[in-house]
Amino acid sequence: MQLSREDEQFRDRLRRWLAGSLTGRFAALRGAGGPGREYEAHDERLAWNRHLAAAGWTCLGWPAEYGGRGATLAQQVIFHEEYARSGAPSRVGYLGEELLGPTLIAFGTPEQQRRFLPAIRAVDELWCQGYSEPGAGSDLAAVATTAAPDGDEWVITGQKIWTSLAHVADWCFLLARTQAGSRRREGLSYLLVPMRQSGITVRPIRQLTGTSEFNEVFFDGARTRRDLVVGSAGDGWRVAMGTLSFERGVATLGQQIGFERELGRLVEAARRTGVAADPVLRDKLARAWIGLAAMRAHALDTLAAGPEAADAAPSVLKVLWSRWHQELGELAMEVLGAPSMVARGEPYDLDDWQRLFLFSRADTIYGGSDEIQRNIIAGRALGLPRQARP
Ligand SMILES: Cc1cc2nc3c(=O)[nH]c(=O)nc-3n(C[C@H](O)[C@H](O)[C@H](O)COP(=O)(O)OP(=O)(O)OC[C@H]3O[C@@H](n4cnc5c(N)ncnc54)[C@H](O)[C@@H]3O)c2cc1C
Repeated sequence: MQLSREDEQFRDRLRRWLAGSLTGRFAALRGAGGPGREYEAHDERLAWNRHLAAAGWTCLGWPAEYGGRGATLAQQVIFHEEYARSGAPSRVGYLGEELLGPTLIAFGTPEQQRRFLPAIRAVDELWCQGYSEPGAGSDLAAVATTAAPDGDEWVITGQKIWTSLAHVADWCFLLARTQAGSRRREGLSYLLVPMRQSGITVRPIRQLTGTSEFNEVFFDGARTRRDLVVGSAGDGWRVAMGTLSFERGVATLGQQIGFERELGRLVEAARRTGVAADPVLRDKLARAWIGLAAMRAHALDTLAAGPEAADAAPSVLKVLWSRWHQELGELAMEVLGAPSMVARGEPYDLDDWQRLFLFSRADTIYGGSDEIQRNIIAGRALGLPRQARP
C-alpha cells in the first residue's frame, strides 16, 4: 500500500499520542482484553476507550458528517497497525463501532443515526450482536425469536446464544421474526433493543478457558420502540447481511500485528527453552512466519481492491487467519512441552499460551465456521452448484 507524506505524518501523530497516553493509570492496561481475555480490566478499558474517543481516535473510517474522521483506507490501516503495535488494550466498543455504526450509516433513518451514532463514537453505549440461536447458527435463516407489534412497541420472545459481551452491553442489535408464519429469509426484522429491562435475562456460558465472555440471552416479553427497526420491517435479512459484510474489514491488519507479536514471543520461547534447534519445530516456526506473510499480502490486496475484490476474498481471509492462529496455539504447546499441560494454579489459572491454545478452538467457529467459508468459496470462486439442503 502506497503511503503519502500525510499518511506518514498521521502515523507519527498517532504514535506520539499512544506513547504519551499509555502512561499513568493506563500503563497497566497494555495487552489487556481481546478474544479469550475480554474479562480483563473491563471498567479500566472502558475508561481508556472514552479517552481514545475524546481525542478523536474512534470511528476513524466513518464519514465526517456522521461524527467519524473520514480517514482514508491507508490511515485506517495505519491506525489498526500502530494501535496493535503499541500494545494498547483491546477496545470494548468495537461491536458498536465496527458493526452497528456502519450498518446505521448504510441503512438507518436520520433519527436512528442521530440517536445512536454519537453514543457509539463516544463509547457511552456498548452493543452486542443477537443473531445466533440454539437452532440457528450457520443456518441463520432458521431464526425463531419473534417480535410482535403492540401499540408503539415490539414485544420480543425467544432465545439468543453465544452473545458476546451481552453481560456488559446497553443495547443489542438482533434479528427477529416479525411476520407470523414467515419462513427462512422472509419476514425477519433487524431490531435495536435496550438490554437493561426486566424482560431480558443474560446467563453467562463458561468457556473452555474457564472464563465467560459470551452468554445465553432470554427474551421474555422484552420491549423496544416500534421505530427502532433498521431498514423496513421484514427486510431484516438484507440489513443483517450488510452488518456481516462490515465484520473485520481493516481491523484485520491490526489483528495480524497481534499475531506477529505472538509468533515473535513464541520464537523467543523456543530459543529460551532450547527447542529452536529441533528440526521439526524450526520447520513449523518457519511455516508460521510464511503463513503470516501470505495472510498480510492477501489482506492488503483485498483492501486495496475495495469493492472490486473477489466475492470470496473475505472467506479466504477468514479461513487463512483462523487456521493459522489455531495452529499457532498447537505449536505453542509443542514448543513449551510437558509443562504446558499443567495449569499454574487452582482452580483454572492459565498462562497466555494455554489460553491462546484453548480459545483459538473458537477461531474456526465464530464469524462463520470454516466449513461454511469453504462452502462460500466453492460457490463464489469455483462456481460449484449450491450444496443440497438436508
Ligand atoms: C467465541 C464466539 C463468539 C460468538 N459471538 C457471537 C455473537 O456475539 N453473536 C452471535 O449472534 N453469535 C455469536 N457466535 C456464534 C457463531 O456465529 C456460531 O457459533 C456460528 O455461526 C456457528 O453456529 P453454531 O454454533 O450454531 O454451529 P452449527 O451451525 O450447528 O454448526 C455445527 C458444525 O456443523 C458445521 N456445519 C453447519 N452447517 C454446515 C453446512 N451446511 N455444511 C458443512 N458444515 C456445516 C459447522 O461448520 C460446525 O462445524 C459466537 C461464537 C463463538 C465461538
